[in-house]
Amino acid sequence: MKRINGHSGPVYRRTAIVGTSLVLALLCTLHPSCSKDRPFTKESFLMGTRVLITIYGLDHNAAQRAAREAMRELHRVESVMSTWKEDSEISRLNRESKGEPYHVSNDLFTLVDSSLYYSKITSGAFDITARPLVRLWGFQGGEEKLPTDEEIVETRAVVGYTKITLDRAASTITLPVGMSLDLAGIAKGYGVDRAADVLKAHGASSALVNLGGNIYAIGSPPGKEAWTIGIRDPKGTTDVVGTLQISDEAVATSGNYENFRIIEGTAYGHIIDPRTGWPVDDVLSVTAVAPTALASDALSTGLFVLGPEDGTAIVVASPAVKALFAVPDGPGISYTRAGDFGGNLLLREETHEK
Ligand code: ADP
Ligand code: MG
Repeated sequence: MKRINGHSGPVYRRTAIVGTSLVLALLCTLHPSCSKDRPFTKESFLMGTRVLITIYGLDHNAAQRAAREAMRELHRVESVMSTWKEDSEISRLNRESKGEPYHVSNDLFTLVDSSLYYSKITSGAFDITARPLVRLWGFQGGEEKLPTDEEIVETRAVVGYTKITLDRAASTITLPVGMSLDLAGIAKGYGVDRAADVLKAHGASSALVNLGGNIYAIGSPPGKEAWTIGIRDPKGTTDVVGTLQISDEAVATSGNYENFRIIEGTAYGHIIDPRTGWPVDDVLSVTAVAPTALASDALSTGLFVLGPEDGTAIVVASPAVKALFAVPDGPGISYTRAGDFGGNLLLREETHEK
């Protein structure tokens, strides 16, 4: 500080400045709205998981309105896409199509259409028609018992994304008899994108939507170039094994630690390889970064099925997509990066990369 009048001037001024900031700090504790550097946060439970919305830079009321509307949008998406709700549109389609064209909303048409795209680019590894197999292995409300080989073969006969018929002009979807769609591998991502759109429409330029690890980052926090996202230990402990920097893009992680069944002493994960009918057991987790949360959600699931070798080819062929594969390696874990993370992915020093 420049000295003005001998020693007394600067001392008074410094006191005044310290005093003002103390008052500001106190006021901010009472009214979070007054600080542009303190985020507004809103938490809820949706689509079977925790959702957290973080917003910087809007005043308290505007942030509250934006977050409330974004949560409302997530509720709406859930009421269309959740197979856990009997009256959701997807449940009605699953029950009522029976080989006939069934008229659906724009939301459902778009999501099924996008799902087919991800099935094509992953050669069927990502497949929303896998629901009967998912249930056969005890997930999505199915019975928890070890299926027989015959059951797996029979069930595979009603699975296959090429058997769905979409009519864009009529906005109808036709599912063959016995087919049932499961949007759990992509709907959270779709919801996060819709919620992020709502936040942007309310003027948010620095915000984060996190729906159970399906994350979209709008802009960056004040004074930073990107949002820092922790990557969880693929074995499911609370440890963070690395960090990722993202801005105006999305990340999702699919992991076996999140959802598995123990049948006759063996753990079976919730992601099924539609091509074999068996749960994938040679991958621990896949973290996928993509321009939209829909893409990162579908790809994290599809790449989990494909594994690091076949998965890397898909990542390299997809613009702006990056992925981190974690596979078991003896008692440890080995990691494979695919795509160009630049300096935005930092793994802890002791992690073993291939
Ligand atoms: P989470 O549901 O925990 O977010 P994912 O996004 O990876 O995890 O989705 C996994 C869910 O998707 C499974 O629980 C199951 O309902 C469904 N699913 C399982 N295997 C597949 C698959 N090969 N393709 C598409 N969806 C799948
Ligand atoms: Mg997914």
